[in-house]
Amino acid sequence: MKTAAVIGSGFGGLALAIRLQAQGIRTTLVEMRDKPGGRAYVYQDAGFTFDAGPTVITDPSALNELFALGGQRMADRIELLPVEPLYRLCWDDGDRFDYVNDQAGLERQIARRSPRDVQGYRRFLDYSKELLEHGYRRLGASPFLSWRDMVRAAPQLARLGAWRSVYDAVADHIEDERLRQVFSFHALLVGGSPFRSSAIYALIHALEREWGVWFPRGGTGALVRALAQLFTDLGGELLLGHRCDAIAAEGAQVQGLRLTRLSDGQGLQRPFDAVASNADVVHTYAGLLRGHPRGREEGQRLARQRFSMSLFVIHFGLRGERRDMAHHTVCFGPRYRELIADIFGPPEGQGLAEDFSLYLHAPCVTDPSLAPPGHSAFYVLSPVPHLGCRDIDWSVAREAYRDRILDHLERHHLPGLRRDLVTCRTFAPPDFASELNAHLGSAFSLEPLLRQSAWFRPHNRDDHLRNLYLVGAGTHPGAGVPGVLASAKATASLMLEGRA
Ligand SMILES: Cc1cc2nc3c(=O)[nH]c(=O)nc-3n(C[C@H](O)[C@H](O)[C@H](O)COP(=O)(O)OP(=O)(O)OC[C@H]3O[C@@H](n4cnc5c(N)ncnc54)[C@H](O)[C@@H]3O)c2cc1C
Repeated sequence: MKTAAVIGSGFGGLALAIRLQAQGIRTTLVEMRDKPGGRAYVYQDAGFTFDAGPTVITDPSALNELFALGGQRMADRIELLPVEPLYRLCWDDGDRFDYVNDQAGLERQIARRSPRDVQGYRRFLDYSKELLEHGYRRLGASPFLSWRDMVRAAPQLARLGAWRSVYDAVADHIEDERLRQVFSFHALLVGGSPFRSSAIYALIHALEREWGVWFPRGGTGALVRALAQLFTDLGGELLLGHRCDAIAAEGAQVQGLRLTRLSDGQGLQRPFDAVASNADVVHTYAGLLRGHPRGREEGQRLARQRFSMSLFVIHFGLRGERRDMAHHTVCFGPRYRELIADIFGPPEGQGLAEDFSLYLHAPCVTDPSLAPPGHSAFYVLSPVPHLGCRDIDWSVAREAYRDRILDHLERHHLPGLRRDLVTCRTFAPPDFASELNAHLGSAFSLEPLLRQSAWFRPHNRDDHLRNLYLVGAGTHPGAGVPGVLASAKATASLMLEGRA
């Protein structure tokens, strides 16, 4: 293999392109938007910088590895600032829990609520560490191509109780309901319901405790730019503003890509020895491979799988510094299990729930440069059903839902918000579908259920088309920045092993 194309420049696509180019494979990274990053896009409004997506950066060692492969030191290219507390968790009645990365500080807060849960928490942390070792370190970057890989992993997964939900695994150790929320909400960070996702995802707690939570100076967008720069420094070709219209394939081989340069509508045909798609998996098969029987068949099969929730995101800038907040705040609503059931379906009922849970991002607490002097940038997101789950007309719901959330923030977290509002934009489920080609507007691709994980997830190498690969949230191991970076490692190992 001498040349390769990667469709999509999300974290997974960027990481794969760097890995291939660093090994001497002439790699072209094709992105339809004007900037790289995918879900980690950046908006600039009225002097504010808004990261569109990921803001909780964990496991910096996975990023370090990419820079080292390219012969650079990460510290020379991007500064990662520590975030503490990792999160602040709040409830509407004023109760709050600072999720800090120090054992004594955590245990003090647990003991204040429920002394018996201190021992339980210690056992949960040990369990989470074991999950981290097996689920992330050993299996995260190993592709599951055959059922034998699954059979080999099965005893370990069974021993760790992977068939249980994250919530049930937490509830086995911790009695207090609010503490159960504190240690189970992480499933939502990778698009899963704490009540349905495999307990394997409880590893996120140990991952955060082990490496901490970080924020790049200049925002996540600065990290994306550093990775894109690393790729081009290595000699890679980055085609921004180029949409892939089709993957050309015949028999069991992919031959190249059909592209449109969006600035002038010019069509291009480019041959490649191998192609990896970082785009949504349904879009890849049912859309880009619609001319090949494999694409039509796999596209239909994938469209029947369960997809993760969507998100409603509001980016807004305020006058005033407001530095007395935490960088990451999770605001639990009055209902937990019931609200999550409303968000994840089944597809019955209409409209949006009356209540919501929110994640509030206040990046200027760590890096004031993201807003003009004397101002603050924020985003708030609310998990909402995807487009196949509830009948919601977002052209009507968008403004009303935005106002309800801003009212709530003004009442509970940001007094004077309306008075100080300088700029505001929203990103809703139909935007995930139209701007990112995300099936059903899902924010995290396939839902992280056990029966959609590892071998059961779309494989890092296609089973029929020998030189077609997947990378990113829709393939193994799954969504979240550490997940898609691990998927790039798994996919690169397959592509480099097949090198002529
Ligand atoms: C609002 C939000 C907040 C999040 N917060 C966090 C967080 O704090 N921490 C964390 O770890 N994770 C977080 N996540 C999850 C994480 O961002 C994603 O799982 C991850 O970034 C997805 O990366 P990916 O490699 O799958 O590619 P994506 O980001 O999905 O990128 C895919 C790319 O493919 C491009 N593309 C699609 N079709 C075509 C085509 N036909 N031609 C050319 N290009 C195409 C798209 O434009 C896009 O750039 C968040 C997600 C969202 C949406």
